[in-house]
Amino acid sequence: MGSHKVCLSFDFDAMTGMVARGLKTPTPISRGEFGAIGVERILRTLEDSNILGSWFVPGTVIKTYPELCRKIYAAGHEIGNHGWTHVPPASLSPESEESGLVRANEAIVEITGAPPAGYRSPSWDLSPVTIDLLIRHGFVYDSSMMGHDCQAYFARTGDIVHDEEPIEFGKESKLVELPVSWSLDDFPHFEYLRMPNSLAPGLANARLVLENFLADFDYMQRTEETGFLVYTFHPFVVGRGHRMELLEKLIEGLKKRGAEFVRMDEVAREFLAASENRT
Ligand SMILES: [Zn+2]
Repeated sequence: MGSHKVCLSFDFDAMTGMVARGLKTPTPISRGEFGAIGVERILRTLEDSNILGSWFVPGTVIKTYPELCRKIYAAGHEIGNHGWTHVPPASLSPESEESGLVRANEAIVEITGAPPAGYRSPSWDLSPVTIDLLIRHGFVYDSSMMGHDCQAYFARTGDIVHDEEPIEFGKESKLVELPVSWSLDDFPHFEYLRMPNSLAPGLANARLVLENFLADFDYMQRTEETGFLVYTFHPFVVGRGHRMELLEKLIEGLKKRGAEFVRMDEVAREFLAASENRT
């Protein structure tokens, strides 16, 4: 029987997601601040379950909550780069994207003593230069794209996208992509967000979301020899009672199914090693 792995990933955005949307008044700030409460709860759950996860933390959050980030790292979890602010790279100039990437790496080094292996873009929207920047700055993997649901692949650079002609795919790079999906992310299911031109209803029933989350694992186990799923949580989202129960039940259900819980850097390095053996 092949191995079916699960990465539990946590984007500790605190208030930066609100700030990036221009929401800087006391209530949205406090909504992000609740993330720090969520982190403590999640750390307890992961410790009780003997699971190591991957955390992506914007540089400004590391600087706001250095002790909490040290605690995450000391528990054995991985800390990845999630930008300096939470503004998605697609809306930054290449210069500010690169300086933010470097600054965020420096903040991580202060906590862990080493640059991160992984990057995840705020709001999952890469710019045309992100992959090249990640390679130049020594990253092993990115986790912001959606080209598969349970297999790693090499990210491409240099795609040319035409409006009215077929896309021209660029070259495969050596950067490992560990794909994600909005369907396995807590945020769109649960967060009610009213903006001037949009409304995200959120507030889904956690039991139904749990059913979806487990069904993706069941399908992978049934149809793929090996594979991995990345679940994405935000402490300010999943940290509330009924959603913490979802997290606990998810872990329980996945364990019952024989899932192996791993950090994302392990999956990326394993994929790299396997691809080197093939060539
Ligand atoms: Zn985020």
